Amino acid sequence: MKLEIVQAGEATLRRKARRLSRDEILAPYIQDLIESMRETMRGAPGVGVAAPQLGLPLQLAVIEDRPEYIEKIQTEQAIERQRSAIPFHVLINPKLVVEGEEVVEFFEGCLSLAGFTAIVPRATHVRVESLNEKAEPVVIAAEGWYARILQHEIDHLNGILYIDRMKSRSLSTLDNYTRYWKDKPSGELWRQIPERSPDV
Ligand code: ZN
Repeated sequence: MKLEIVQAGEATLRRKARRLSRDEILAPYIQDLIESMRETMRGAPGVGVAAPQLGLPLQLAVIEDRPEYIEKIQTEQAIERQRSAIPFHVLINPKLVVEGEEVVEFFEGCLSLAGFTAIVPRATHVRVESLNEKAEPVVIAAEGWYARILQHEIDHLNGILYIDRMKSRSLSTLDNYTRYWKDKPSGELWRQIPERSPDV
């Protein structure tokens, strides 16, 4: 069953979500919810959906980056962003640790901020400890675009949206992003839109 994705302004998106117990994870309600989240993510389409985006304050998110999504973007862009396919998986009660100090800036969007995109600096390497849909512990070491998705989704579970971390002067409608910025390196924006406005 596809669920409605709530938009910025809903209080659930700004609350820290609560953890799930092992019994809850294995209960039909959560198992059905995971299936609905998969359908909702594919229908959007998106590469991740967190329970707070469905109005549910639970530490639960799903991620999947399908090969057909990556085929739709330019090869250079996929390489620059270190983006490769990620099989469907579930995060429950995840803990994220940034590894190293490397940070990269790329445009990022969110299904709960429909119609907009902005440059968001994110760590290139992260390590996540989580439970899966069988309530088993899993450890994920991720880099590149996958590390970005993990940071974005786990932020949702802590009431954080990308607009809290974005370079605010890069905020663009998706239409204008497609028109002006899509095929350019992200640094190009700062050459055309100065980082600071001149003194007046
Ligand atoms: Zn989001």
